[in-house]
Amino acid sequence: MVKRKIALFGGTFDPIHLGHTTVAADAIAHIGAEKIVFIPAKRSPLKGFLPKANDDHRLNMISLAIAGEKNFEVSDYELKRPAPSYTLATIRKFRSDYGSETSIYWLIGADGVDDLVYWYKIDELIDACNLATMYRAGCEPPDYSKFEKAWGRGRIEKLQRNIIQTPLVDISSTEIRNIIASGGDTAKMLQQAVADYIRKNGLYQSKDTAGGG
Ligand code: ATP
Repeated sequence: MVKRKIALFGGTFDPIHLGHTTVAADAIAHIGAEKIVFIPAKRSPLKGFLPKANDDHRLNMISLAIAGEKNFEVSDYELKRPAPSYTLATIRKFRSDYGSETSIYWLIGADGVDDLVYWYKIDELIDACNLATMYRAGCEPPDYSKFEKAWGRGRIEKLQRNIIQTPLVDISSTEIRNIIASGGDTAKMLQQAVADYIRKNGLYQSKDTAGGG
């Protein structure tokens, strides 16, 4: 029997942009998942700094960006938990909600590969889901072979099988925040409704809050 598949897409989404939604749409089709759930993090355990936009704004922007996409959902699960949120705990929550007949995919961009060694209980996480790695503009194609000694051949084969050659969209939230703070135009990087929301709420305006720290 073909298992039901769902994809989970975690991130700061500060703000969500066309790179996120483009690769999400490609990944869901590639996996054959019935839906993708965007899960904004309260604070990335690895980023070491707080998101610039507050939780409600980030959640609202995701809702606006995915409106009209019937297979896209957003979850506030991590925002409601004490920070920092660990991916393994989130995967276990969705696993218990959906049951063992559902395959869970957790999506990351290729820029996150080298950070995985710092993730909480990464070997358990690799076993607990299908960690699917998407291509990202400006990054080498994902390759897990160098981790074979640390994680074992079985896990590396699973990770390599779950690499998805998503389209390259050269957009990042950091770049968007920096452009907005300098008064530049980000229209081509954001959904229109998200761009309007940012303008209406005066988000990312000041330079000292635009960067990564
Ligand atoms: P920042 O610039 O603030 O680090 P970001 O643009 O990388 O933000 P995140 O919210 O941190 O956005 O990303 C969430 C997830 O989406 C990460 O796994 C990241 O690798 C992936 N991702 C973000 N942008 C892209 C993109 N353009 N192509 C592929 N993956 C992406």
